[in-house]
Amino acid sequence: MPIIDPSAALLADIRSRIARAAHLSDRDPSDVTLIAISKTQPIETIRPLIDAGQTVFGENRVQEAQTKWPDLRVGRALRLHLVGQLQSNKAAEAIALFDAIHSVDRPSLIDALARAMDKGDRRPDCFIQVNIGDEDQKGGCAIDALPAILARARDAGLPIVGLMAVPPLDVEPAPYFALLAKLARRHELAGLSMGMSGDFETAVMLGATHVRVGTALFGARR
Ligand SMILES: *Cc1c(COP(=O)(O)O)cnc(C)c1O
Repeated sequence: MPIIDPSAALLADIRSRIARAAHLSDRDPSDVTLIAISKTQPIETIRPLIDAGQTVFGENRVQEAQTKWPDLRVGRALRLHLVGQLQSNKAAEAIALFDAIHSVDRPSLIDALARAMDKGDRRPDCFIQVNIGDEDQKGGCAIDALPAILARARDAGLPIVGLMAVPPLDVEPAPYFALLAKLARRHELAGLSMGMSGDFETAVMLGATHVRVGTALFGARR
């Protein structure tokens, strides 16, 4: 019997669940990007997933990503997404390393990203993060502030591709996904970054174009 690599088996399982949710909602599975969230995972855990064919990864800290990805990337066409809160003073470093930034949520960060992009030749895709459950401790702009934040980001020339949100813990996420999808439609944004290990199928059925899956692929975080 062939030895099945556990990372490959997990990856195949998640991909088939995404495909099933896409088909059920009359969507094309290839319109959904699986981002493997590798925060806290060491290089040794990430490499088998790369070998199994995963090409899109996400991290939530610039510094941690800087220690892991330059080595992992050598000779491979991988794409790296930043899904965590970003300090304005790290904007240039983030742009140098990441191909997409999911946490654009305030004017100071928009201005810092725009300045850094104008200085160099890299323009990563940007998602506006929305504080969809109106939670004090969460990143993301308030729903009411979204039109102004979007206008500012577009004026600054950021390549805005969509919206991102993390719904409140321990409540049914579907209404929040539906609300984010509605906001994206209203603002004519095609990208929807929503859905994590516990709820990515629901997110796909409600229109997610990017799901961010960590523990379901890697197991518990370190
Ligand atoms: C950690 C993280 C994820 C992945 O969460 P899991 O529940 O492990 O799949 C997704 N999105 C963001 C913003 C995260 O910080």
